[in-house]
Parts: sequence; C-alpha cells; structure tokens
Amino acid sequence: MSETKDIIEKIKGYEKRETELKLDNAELRQLIRALTLVDEKSAVLNSIIESSDDAIISKDLNSIITSWNASATRIFGYLPDEMIGESILKLIPLERHDEEPKILSQLRQGLRVNHFETQRLRKDGTLIHVSLTISPIKDNYGNVVGLSKIARDITDKKLMQQKKDEFVSFVSHELKTPLTSLKSYIQVAAKKTSDEIFLLKALGRAEVQAKKMENMIRDFLNLSRFEEGKISIENAVFDVVNTLDDCIADALVISHKHAINYQGLASCKVNADQEKIAMVITNLISNAQKYSPDGGDITVSCERHHQMVNIKVADKGLGISTENQKLLFQKFHRVETEKTKLIPGFGIGLYLVSTVLTLHGSQIVLKSELGSGSEFSFELPAG
Ligand code: ADP
Repeated sequence: MSETKDIIEKIKGYEKRETELKLDNAELRQLIRALTLVDEKSAVLNSIIESSDDAIISKDLNSIITSWNASATRIFGYLPDEMIGESILKLIPLERHDEEPKILSQLRQGLRVNHFETQRLRKDGTLIHVSLTISPIKDNYGNVVGLSKIARDITDKKLMQQKKDEFVSFVSHELKTPLTSLKSYIQVAAKKTSDEIFLLKALGRAEVQAKKMENMIRDFLNLSRFEEGKISIENAVFDVVNTLDDCIADALVISHKHAINYQGLASCKVNADQEKIAMVITNLISNAQKYSPDGGDITVSCERHHQMVNIKVADKGLGISTENQKLLFQKFHRVETEKTKLIPGFGIGLYLVSTVLTLHGSQIVLKSELGSGSEFSFELPAG
C-alpha cells in the first residue's frame, strides 16, 4: 500500500518538474528572442557606424580609445589596432592639448559639445580641420562612463572659405584706391561748379553714393582683417560725444530722411579704441536709417552710470522678431522679409559690431519688437 503511495508521490513530483521545465523553456525562448533582437539591433548600429562618412570614435573617461570606425581610419590614417587602447591625445596637436581637459569637464557634467571646429593630426603628420560633436555615454544609472565622438573632416570647406576671404580682401583693396580718387574728383568738381545748380546736386549725390561704397568696402576690409586675426584694440581716452557728433553728421550727409536727435551728456570720456568704436556707431546709425524705410526719428544717447558709459541708438523702424534677434550678429545673416529684401546690405555690419565690442570686453544689447523699432546699446569703461 505504502509502495503505491510512494509511486503516486513520485509521479506528482515528475509532473511538477515537467511544468517547471515547460515554464523554464518558455522563459529561455523569450530570452533567446530578446537576445536575437539585441544582436540584430547592434548589427544595424554597427553597419551604420561602419558606413558613416564621419569618423566615429568612443573613448573612456581617461581619454583611452575604445572603438574606431572605418571612416576614422580613412580620415586619420590609423588602423583600429593602432588606435584602440591608445590615448586620444595622439590625434591632438601639441599646442591644442589643453582642449581635451576642457571637453572632458563639460562632458562629465553630462553636457554635449556641438560642432566644435578645431584641428587634428593625421598619421602622416599633416593637420586637418575637423568639426567635433561629442556626447557622453551613460550607464543604466545615468553615470557618464565614456564618450562618443563624431569627427567631420571640414578641411575642404575651410580652404574654400579661406580662398573666398582672400578674394574679398583683394577685391576690397582694389576697389578702395579708385574710389578714393573718384571722391576727390567729385569734391574738386563740386567746388568749381558752385553756380551750376543741377551739376552741384548731381555731384552731391555722386559723393553720397561714393561714401556708401566706401563704408561697405571698409566693412569688407575689416571683416577679412578680423578673420586673419590682424585686428588689435588700441585703447586710449577720448571724448565719445565728439565721436557720436561726427558719426551723426556723416550719417546726415548720406540720408536726410530721418531726424537724428542726440540726448545726454555734452562731453564724456571713455577708454576704448576710438576708430573701432566710431565704426560701431556708424554701423548702428546707418542700420537705424536703412531699416526705418518709412522715416521716424532716430535717437542717439550717451549716459554715464558710475564707471561705465552707456551708448544707445534707437529707431522707430521695422523692428526685429525674437527668433531673428538671436541670429543677427552672425556673419552674413540678414532678415529676409518682403520689406528688408529691397534694402541693400551684406549682413556683416552687426557681426563686426559685436566682434569689436567683444574685443573691448563689452557686448551689444538689443531690445526690439517687430513693427515698433529697435534699440541697440553697449557700455564702455569711463576714461
Ligand atoms: P546688413 O544691414 O548689411 O544686412 P547688418 O549685419 O548690419 O547687415 O544687419 C543684419 C540684419 O539685421 C539686417 O539685414 C537687418 O535685417 C537687421 N537689422 C539690423 N539693424 C536693424 C534695425 N535697426 N532695425 C531692423 N532690422 C535691423
């Protein structure tokens, strides 16, 4: 009797194990399916990484390279075996080694580095221009455990840009000389024809056009000088109100359409580069005139707040939308609307304005509303 009981117990045990095995098998099948999916996904990712035109490199937090794709080999000339396990510093020119700790500290905080343009070293010792986008690699708990780096070779783009800049600089130089003599001829002719009203008017207009061209050429020449790093700031103490007066007088020669009112101090010394600040003010007043096609007063002001002098140019013109306000100071950026389309310009004036002010340790501040006018202001240290 007890034998039968034992057999029944054993059978029950087998049945239980069979059910458990069935469950284990189902779990195993699920795991195998999940693993196959992960395998397929990583195969797709690998083939994307391998077929990318950009170098894709990953490294750990000590800057040791952990992966190296085919384009990294094509761009830098090193095979994966030569780079995996090596320091990324092998690719960085000596004078740029300080870039790496800066990049690392930004990434340790979990921040990306986007389109950072710099130079890197190839295996054959030549330098190439690259644009780097670097992102942190995080583990499941959100800790930064490594970095992935995408390097795009922009050497051709840079060379093209350099050629274009050289061309612009050359053309501007060549235009400047004949324009200067043209202006002198106009001025001499105007003096000799004081009784011929029509001729006098025509010569006056010709002088205005020549002055406009002169301003444009000056901006282009300044642009190429900035790009070549040839501009330096020579600070001196001068009366900025005199400079404002001169710039207003010059602007009134070019256009009488707007009244330009001056408000503020009768005299105010600042410590800055007079010629470059004159260029900033000329650009701001000229823009206030250009972008107020329906007229409206322009107000130029100068106030002192403790050790700083604040200069403002305000107009009642077209105004600038919030999205465009962020882009205006980029090189060649122009607002494209039905109204601005007809106003000539190259989009370099505000780029120069902001570069000159940055070199002075200052910055341009813009307040504007579409349709209600704009106010550009900046500060300089009192002299
Ligand atoms: P440009 O006048 O040659 O186009 P700028 O760099 O001086 O170049 O100006 C860039 C753009 O900013 C202009 O095209 C214009 O759309 C806008 N802008 C500049 N100043 C003003 C202003 N006072 N009012 C409205 N828009 C302006």
